[in-house]
Amino acid sequence: MHFFQYRSGELYAEEVPVKTLAEQYGTPLYVYSHTTLLRHFMAYENAFDGYPHIICFAVKSNPNTAIIRLFAKHGGGADIVSGGELHAALKAGIPSRKIVYAGVGKTEDEIRFALKSKILMFNVESENELREIDRVAGNMKTNAQIALRINPDIDPGTHPYITTGMKKHKFGIPIEVALEYYKLASKLKNVVVVGVHKHIGSQITKVSPFVDALKRILLLIDELNAQGVSLQYLDVGGGLGISYRDEEPPVPGDLAKHLIPMLKDRNLTLIMEPGRSLVGNAGILVTKTLYMKKGIEKEFIIVDAGMNDLIRPSLYDAYHHILPVVRTKRDKILCDVVGPICESGDFLAKERELGKLKQGEYLAVMSAGAYGFSMSSNYNSRPRAAEVLVKGRDHVLIRKRETYDDLVRNEKIPAFLK
Ligand SMILES: *Cc1c(COP(=O)(O)O)cnc(C)c1O
Repeated sequence: MHFFQYRSGELYAEEVPVKTLAEQYGTPLYVYSHTTLLRHFMAYENAFDGYPHIICFAVKSNPNTAIIRLFAKHGGGADIVSGGELHAALKAGIPSRKIVYAGVGKTEDEIRFALKSKILMFNVESENELREIDRVAGNMKTNAQIALRINPDIDPGTHPYITTGMKKHKFGIPIEVALEYYKLASKLKNVVVVGVHKHIGSQITKVSPFVDALKRILLLIDELNAQGVSLQYLDVGGGLGISYRDEEPPVPGDLAKHLIPMLKDRNLTLIMEPGRSLVGNAGILVTKTLYMKKGIEKEFIIVDAGMNDLIRPSLYDAYHHILPVVRTKRDKILCDVVGPICESGDFLAKERELGKLKQGEYLAVMSAGAYGFSMSSNYNSRPRAAEVLVKGRDHVLIRKRETYDDLVRNEKIPAFLK
């Protein structure tokens, strides 16, 4: 459920016509709805109310500090995967003891930064990393709280690029050898074992993979208890899917209904790391029609947003609804909606039936709040889009559009070329 709706044929973001936003801020433009973001966050909070928990927003899905701030204000934590995300999370006001840090390639500098910031825990992905964290913590005369990221070998039935919890993946520690790793960790002088972590993939549209993975993790926790290792934190990761097209994914309440009974009588704090399910349907990408082009086999609508602004269609063959910002009676055409970038893979939609558009009309690419701006780039020397947050009748620019100067700011022409 989101707050981008038509009123008398015009698309609104909450109480503001999207056309007004496009005219004021220009396009391509990311527009987020405050009410939708809060509603999605509270759906998790309310579902897991009554069981000790922290909702750690997966910053990589949308790292804008205004968005992170919104979750921080309502008690959220952060799931980070880099020093840059740690910086953003702290700047946005996330308490450091609500920050968990995953990723297979944490550098020494990043580990130091996280230790200095006193984050809640490192979600450790390999033996080498475990030893490195121990070494760096030792040098800093401090302790590192850690969880091991366990790979439970569960197929979540989603796109291969966003599946992470199977034997063939680079993530986590195979569940078969988890006990050995916990033994090793408990012997290291500068790490304190506090938890267990798993994250099996993204855009998961069934409850069963979450249940199956948790069953395996709970067996591991039982074995650890039997060996005298007790954990405080159970981090079940993120991955809950959203409706892009006609999917009917479970809601946080469905997850809670299945997961909480499995956890009762266990003295654990549950950590969740939702990204997409918080921000995905809370954002749209607004783009302007530049040209209509009749090809021999099909028509193209050429718009001013490209794969550098939203790479999901190109990268994952992802489907996004595309809606006209002003709805009128139109003849239908079958077309590809494509960007200006010099790649055949630069498209937002293929073989889509859309109403005929005129040059200069606006389109809204729906469900673009997650892994949208976040994965955008400057390819073809295109300044990255502006981002606006709408709350009721208010709208605020939460990220300025980049300028041409921004594109070359950090570059230097050497003296020998002058
Ligand atoms: C990407 C990621 C998430 C968030 O996944 P969503 O599908 O966006 O909910 C959570 N945890 C980890 C470790 C991740 O890498």
